[in-house]
Amino acid sequence: MPELANRDQHEEELSAVLLGLMDQQRERLDTLLGTQPDLENVPGSYWDHLRTDLRGPLINKLIEIYLLGADQQASDLDHTLSPSDIAANALVWSSGHVDGLLDKFMARSQQMAQAAIAQYHADHDRVAMLASLLLILGDTRADGIAITETTAANTAGERRAASDYVAWANSEEARRAEVENERGGTSPLERRNVDRFGRRLGVTLKATWNTEKDSKVCPICKPLDGTTEATWGRVAPEGPPAHPRCRCALLYSVSDSQN
Ligand SMILES: [Zn+2]
Repeated sequence: MPELANRDQHEEELSAVLLGLMDQQRERLDTLLGTQPDLENVPGSYWDHLRTDLRGPLINKLIEIYLLGADQQASDLDHTLSPSDIAANALVWSSGHVDGLLDKFMARSQQMAQAAIAQYHADHDRVAMLASLLLILGDTRADGIAITETTAANTAGERRAASDYVAWANSEEARRAEVENERGGTSPLERRNVDRFGRRLGVTLKATWNTEKDSKVCPICKPLDGTTEATWGRVAPEGPPAHPRCRCALLYSVSDSQN
């Protein structure tokens, strides 16, 4: 099952938190810009504050989604993750990812603010400037981040669980578990991946792109549907999202090819 359960609810929760913070910060920005709007009127501390405000809730929510993705993927593979390892992975991934995301977000926000101010000096239309500020800090961006980053966190958690499974399945420990299971009943691992001497052949997972949840499948994702990493890896090396608001996912299956 590639999709995140209650995905809409996670997106809505994240979007609502981001929007609440953006609304407050947009009002502050408008006040700071002053009657003769100028980006010079906005102190560096304003942007630092904005960044810090968004960072905590984003990291926490993405950790939650990463862990849900990892748990779901592990259970699909009948695999057990170490709770402490996966929690550490989630924290490292989420904080690194959010920092990168906010670097881009902050740079883009300042660019957009600069453009809005320049426009104001051309037409002296304060209402139009407020509408532009709403595009910088408002529901469009809150929603966009919520959708895109829910996808990113889910993909990252699933990928982590999948690679953890592959490492485990090819380990000596798994080989012994297999032998034990064969004595006692059905093996959880693919029979074909064990040779006649009981040695493990390479277990690999094939990750197939799935556009099922991407409501309006865009020209970027449509050709990726059903492809394997050799193809989608050239477009989106980390997997979905391939673009803002992408809701695609990867679908894992034990690979037929033995190495
Ligand atoms: Zn997509």
